[in-house]
Amino acid sequence: MMCIFCKIANKEIPAKIVYEDESTFAFLDINPRSKGHTLVIPKEHYETFDELPDDVAIALVKTIKKVIEMLRPLNPDGYNILNNNKPAAGQEVPHVHFHIIPRYNTEQDEIIKFSEPITVDLDELLNEIKEK
Ligand code: AMP
Ligand code: ZN
Repeated sequence: MMCIFCKIANKEIPAKIVYEDESTFAFLDINPRSKGHTLVIPKEHYETFDELPDDVAIALVKTIKKVIEMLRPLNPDGYNILNNNKPAAGQEVPHVHFHIIPRYNTEQDEIIKFSEPITVDLDELLNEIKEK
Protein backbone atom coordinates (compact mmCIF):
# COMPACT_ATOMS: atom_id res chain seq x y z
CA MET A 1 0.00 0.00 0.00
CA MET A 2 1.52 3.31 -1.08
CA CYS A 3 -0.61 5.90 0.72
CA ILE A 4 1.34 7.55 3.54
CA PHE A 5 -1.78 8.36 5.60
CA CYS A 6 -3.03 4.76 5.25
CA LYS A 7 0.35 3.68 6.59
CA ILE A 8 -0.02 6.09 9.51
CA ALA A 9 -3.57 4.87 10.23
CA ASN A 10 -2.29 1.25 10.14
CA LYS A 11 0.64 2.22 12.38
CA GLU A 12 3.12 1.03 9.78
CA ILE A 13 4.91 4.34 10.13
CA PRO A 14 4.99 6.40 13.34
CA ALA A 15 2.92 9.48 14.05
CA LYS A 16 2.26 11.65 17.07
CA ILE A 17 -1.22 10.36 17.78
CA VAL A 18 -3.62 12.87 19.33
CA TYR A 19 -6.78 10.78 19.16
CA GLU A 20 -7.96 7.51 17.66
CA ASP A 21 -11.25 5.63 17.44
CA GLU A 22 -12.76 2.88 15.30
CA SER A 23 -12.95 4.86 12.08
CA THR A 24 -10.90 8.04 12.55
CA PHE A 25 -7.39 9.08 13.45
CA ALA A 26 -5.86 12.41 14.52
CA PHE A 27 -2.14 13.13 14.58
CA LEU A 28 0.22 16.11 14.66
CA ASP A 29 1.20 17.56 11.30
CA ILE A 30 4.89 16.91 10.67
CA ASN A 31 5.33 20.47 9.34
CA PRO A 32 3.13 22.41 11.74
CA ARG A 33 1.88 25.82 10.56
CA SER A 34 1.13 26.69 14.19
CA LYS A 35 1.50 25.15 17.66
CA GLY A 36 -0.96 22.25 17.78
CA HIS A 37 -1.53 21.85 14.02
CA THR A 38 -3.33 18.50 13.83
CA LEU A 39 -4.62 16.37 10.96
CA VAL A 40 -7.85 14.36 11.18
CA ILE A 41 -8.30 11.46 8.74
CA PRO A 42 -10.63 8.51 8.16
CA LYS A 43 -8.84 5.20 8.73
CA GLU A 44 -10.22 3.94 5.41
CA HIS A 45 -8.75 5.39 2.25
CA TYR A 46 -10.82 7.99 0.41
CA GLU A 47 -9.23 10.65 -1.73
CA THR A 48 -11.70 13.53 -1.42
CA PHE A 49 -14.49 14.74 0.83
CA ASP A 50 -17.28 14.00 -1.67
CA GLU A 51 -16.26 10.31 -1.74
CA LEU A 52 -16.89 9.85 1.99
CA PRO A 53 -19.88 7.75 3.05
CA ASP A 54 -22.14 9.82 5.31
CA ASP A 55 -21.31 7.81 8.43
CA VAL A 56 -17.58 8.38 7.93
CA ALA A 57 -18.14 12.10 7.30
CA ILE A 58 -20.14 12.31 10.54
CA ALA A 59 -17.45 10.42 12.46
CA LEU A 60 -14.83 12.85 11.11
CA VAL A 61 -16.83 15.89 12.22
CA LYS A 62 -17.15 14.39 15.71
CA THR A 63 -13.40 13.77 15.85
CA ILE A 64 -12.68 17.32 14.63
CA LYS A 65 -14.79 18.63 17.53
CA LYS A 66 -12.98 16.34 19.99
CA VAL A 67 -9.57 17.46 18.77
CA ILE A 68 -10.54 21.13 19.09
CA GLU A 69 -11.49 20.37 22.71
CA MET A 70 -8.21 18.51 23.27
CA LEU A 71 -6.21 21.49 21.95
CA ARG A 72 -7.91 23.87 24.38
CA PRO A 73 -5.04 23.66 26.95
CA LEU A 74 -2.84 25.35 24.32
CA ASN A 75 -5.05 28.43 24.76
CA PRO A 76 -5.48 29.34 21.11
CA ASP A 77 -7.32 32.57 20.30
CA GLY A 78 -9.00 30.92 17.30
CA TYR A 79 -8.58 28.09 14.84
CA ASN A 80 -8.96 27.18 11.18
CA ILE A 81 -10.50 23.94 9.92
CA LEU A 82 -9.16 23.34 6.42
CA ASN A 83 -9.80 20.56 3.92
CA ASN A 84 -8.05 20.64 0.53
CA ASN A 85 -9.46 18.48 -2.27
CA LYS A 86 -7.34 17.70 -5.37
CA PRO A 87 -4.07 19.41 -6.30
CA ALA A 88 -5.96 22.39 -7.80
CA ALA A 89 -7.11 23.11 -4.23
CA GLY A 90 -3.69 22.46 -2.69
CA GLN A 91 -4.11 18.78 -1.73
CA GLU A 92 -0.69 17.13 -1.56
CA VAL A 93 -1.59 13.88 0.21
CA PRO A 94 -4.40 12.10 -1.68
CA HIS A 95 -6.05 10.69 1.47
CA VAL A 96 -8.81 12.96 2.75
CA HIS A 97 -7.72 15.00 5.78
CA PHE A 98 -8.81 18.00 7.78
CA HIS A 99 -6.25 20.44 9.11
CA ILE A 100 -7.03 21.82 12.57
CA ILE A 101 -4.82 24.89 12.87
CA PRO A 102 -4.91 26.74 16.21
CA ARG A 103 -4.35 30.48 15.85
CA TYR A 104 -2.72 32.83 18.35
CA ASN A 105 -3.00 36.61 18.59
CA THR A 106 0.52 36.73 19.95
CA GLU A 107 2.05 34.91 17.00
CA GLN A 108 2.88 36.63 13.76
CA ASP A 109 1.64 33.57 11.91
CA GLU A 110 0.42 33.99 8.38
CA ILE A 111 -3.31 33.45 8.42
CA ILE A 112 -4.69 31.48 5.50
CA LYS A 113 -6.77 33.85 3.43
CA PHE A 114 -8.90 33.42 0.35
CA SER A 115 -7.66 34.75 -2.97
CA GLU A 116 -8.94 38.11 -4.25
CA PRO A 117 -12.65 38.27 -5.12
CA ILE A 118 -13.59 37.75 -8.78
CA THR A 119 -16.17 39.60 -10.86
CA VAL A 120 -19.13 37.36 -11.68
CA ASP A 121 -22.83 37.67 -12.52
CA LEU A 122 -24.37 35.88 -9.53
CA ASP A 123 -27.77 35.29 -11.23
CA GLU A 124 -26.13 33.69 -14.29
CA LEU A 125 -23.93 31.62 -12.01
CA LEU A 126 -26.87 30.39 -9.96
CA ASN A 127 -28.70 29.35 -13.16
CA GLU A 128 -25.61 27.42 -14.27
CA ILE A 129 -25.46 25.61 -10.93
CA LYS A 130 -29.16 24.77 -10.85
CA GLU A 131 -29.59 23.91 -14.56
CA LYS A 132 -28.49 20.31 -14.13
P1 AMP B 1 -2.33 18.97 2.11
O1 AMP B 1 -1.47 19.97 1.41
O2 AMP B 1 -3.68 19.54 2.50
O3 AMP B 1 -2.46 17.68 1.34
O4 AMP B 1 -1.61 18.68 3.49
C1 AMP B 1 -0.78 17.60 3.70
C2 AMP B 1 -0.20 17.77 5.09
O5 AMP B 1 0.33 16.52 5.51
C3 AMP B 1 0.95 18.79 5.15
O6 AMP B 1 0.61 19.81 6.11
C4 AMP B 1 2.14 17.95 5.62
O7 AMP B 1 2.98 18.65 6.51
C5 AMP B 1 1.46 16.77 6.28
N1 AMP B 1 2.22 15.53 6.31
C6 AMP B 1 2.82 14.91 5.26
N2 AMP B 1 3.42 13.78 5.66
C7 AMP B 1 3.20 13.66 7.00
C8 AMP B 1 3.57 12.70 8.00
N3 AMP B 1 4.28 11.60 7.69
N4 AMP B 1 3.17 12.93 9.27
C9 AMP B 1 2.45 14.01 9.58
N5 AMP B 1 2.06 14.94 8.69
C10 AMP B 1 2.43 14.78 7.41
ZN1 ZN C 1 -4.77 6.36 2.19
